[in-house]
Amino acid sequence: MNIVRYGRGDVVAYGILDGDTVYEASGDPYTGGPTRGTAVGPLSDVTLHAPVQPSKIIAIGLNYQDHIDEDAFDFERPENPIVFLKPPSSLVGHGASIVLPAGTEKVDSEAELGVVIGRRCRNVKGSDYQDVILGLTNSNDVSARDYQFKDGQWARAKGFDTFSPVGPAIVTETDPTNRAITCRLNGEVRQQSNTDMLIFDVPTLIEFVSRVMTLEPGDIIMTGTPAGPPTMSPGDVVEIEIDGLGELRNTAVAE
Ligand code: MG
Repeated sequence: MNIVRYGRGDVVAYGILDGDTVYEASGDPYTGGPTRGTAVGPLSDVTLHAPVQPSKIIAIGLNYQDHIDEDAFDFERPENPIVFLKPPSSLVGHGASIVLPAGTEKVDSEAELGVVIGRRCRNVKGSDYQDVILGLTNSNDVSARDYQFKDGQWARAKGFDTFSPVGPAIVTETDPTNRAITCRLNGEVRQQSNTDMLIFDVPTLIEFVSRVMTLEPGDIIMTGTPAGPPTMSPGDVVEIEIDGLGELRNTAVAE
């Protein structure tokens, strides 16, 4: 099932996407799952919002070796997952603009597997990770590199409004392994890897993060990006595609 949040007129609601058609969804996606209602209309008739409404966006830094090894950065392989937070106010959905803030000079797009938490949990054993996941989605950990390295911590660099595109849907599958992950800039492939290349895999991340903080339904873990995150200029179109999760497309615009 593909769970979306759509907007049409003044209404914003959860829906179910099947092919190119959005259907109404009755019931809470986090308590037993929604059931499909009547058709709302084709995708082209609605605005897609981020499909999650998290209490927090958890992101993981430096989780692909080829990204750590890039000449452009001075990174070292971490001994444990590097966890940081992004504000929910940075979320946007498929089709939305990514606003390049005035004053920034290098804003990169980072293709990442997004793991959506399905129920409140704490101290989850890695082997039980599938019990707490609602589904998977494409995500983009947009990053202002100049601020990231200048500030020493990443809240500003990764926290601007529109810096967390997610979607188009939560796909209710719980197996994150062996999924090709691709980022295209204006149609050209710039990142190409596979979720099996994660240094810390999803079970490890769920166990590690849930030992620190209670995870709530709708919280999302962005699991890190592979090598080659492209720098965006106004007008650039970024597409992130992970096997089985559809395609997340956004356009960069100047502030
Ligand atoms: Mg990232």
